[in-house]
Amino acid sequence: MLSHKSIMSILSDRINNLSESATLKMTKLGRELAAKGVNVISLSVGEPDFNTPDHVKEAAKKALDENYTRYSPVPGYPDLRQAIVNKLKTENNLDYDISQIVVSTGAKQSLSNVILTLINPGDEVIIPTPYWVSYSEMVTLAEGKSVFINTSIESDFKITPEQLEAAITPKSKLFMFSSPNNPTGTVYSKDELAALAKVFEKYPNIYILSDEIYEHINFVDKHESIAQFPSIKDRVIIVNGFSKAFAMTGWRLGYIAANKEIAAANDKLQGQTTSGTCSIAQRAGIVAYEQGLDTVNEMKKAFERRRQLVYDLLKEIPGVKTNLPEGAFYFFPEISSFFGKKDAEGNVIKNSSDLALYLLNVGHVATVGGDSFGNDNYIRLSYAASDESLVEALRRIKEALGKLS
Ligand code: PMP
Ligand code: GLU
Repeated sequence: MLSHKSIMSILSDRINNLSESATLKMTKLGRELAAKGVNVISLSVGEPDFNTPDHVKEAAKKALDENYTRYSPVPGYPDLRQAIVNKLKTENNLDYDISQIVVSTGAKQSLSNVILTLINPGDEVIIPTPYWVSYSEMVTLAEGKSVFINTSIESDFKITPEQLEAAITPKSKLFMFSSPNNPTGTVYSKDELAALAKVFEKYPNIYILSDEIYEHINFVDKHESIAQFPSIKDRVIIVNGFSKAFAMTGWRLGYIAANKEIAAANDKLQGQTTSGTCSIAQRAGIVAYEQGLDTVNEMKKAFERRRQLVYDLLKEIPGVKTNLPEGAFYFFPEISSFFGKKDAEGNVIKNSSDLALYLLNVGHVATVGGDSFGNDNYIRLSYAASDESLVEALRRIKEALGKLS
């Protein structure tokens, strides 16, 4: 067995400098504890607790019977890309053609493709905090530099145009954000996006990566994309996918919509790394988009009910501060009042990761520390779980936090 030091010397700097995904790590720890017989409630991973709709599953079975089992074109089957073009037109009123769409192995790969395609060593990527855990690590992999704009619960985790402009330097290459946001649920309105677009108009060398994976889980309004502003549309790269809207996390199906040159570059990168994503998942994706949003809307209703349930329960926990998220299926409550307190063994809770581990080991509820999302004063709870699990999880969290002294 090699020592930690020898392993580090074998591995590339690239991998040694990379952090493990905190969402996946906490989920793994939760599973390990559950395997030992502990009744763990997982609120760590962000995935719908619903099954993939039957018509999508049927389409996959049919695809197998029709022998869609060979390599697909690298950017995806043309009819899937056409279904995506149609969706962007009918749902978002955005015009694209299929040469602008590249389908990938999940939105995660789409994000990584875009960053590797655009970022040179030293280029700056502006990221509002809190952000989804993998953003900054993907930038690190590309040897870029993340420049963070901090927000807090007081501003509903939104940045202002002034904050954006102050973060821009001659090295800024990309701005990336998600709305609805993971981990806060924050949704930018059309006016707020228009104000950010006005800033980007002044800086023609900056690209905008708009992660819209939670588009359909929005409780306030219809979805607004920053790509709707003609003055900057050519510089916006939309990332979206099927994981959240159609409960298809395991199918690994995501895509970008971008200008032709960026799409072609992503196609080239993907052709040297993973090739086209799973042929069967792609055929099922066509049916998901063609059959419309009925199942998504059913899921949304359940999420909205649970959001209220968790909100009411969180507000009853002394020391926890929360807002009412407008989209996605997460709460990102402020928990810094517990820092400095001790557990029954005298261990001090120093940060949000300590608190998440304490909640897992003592409360048997898996959450994720806010530090991995760029804001250490918070933790993330996913409410994509049954009403009963949520009630029990919040009871356990309240009890465990109450034991800290
Ligand atoms: N972006 C955000 C904001 C996410 O929360 C996730 C998590 N799944 C992804 C992208 C990646 O999604 P996919 O499952 O399509 O890779
Ligand atoms: N995006 C989900 C989350 O934030 C899935 C896990 C992951 O890929 O990080 O929990």
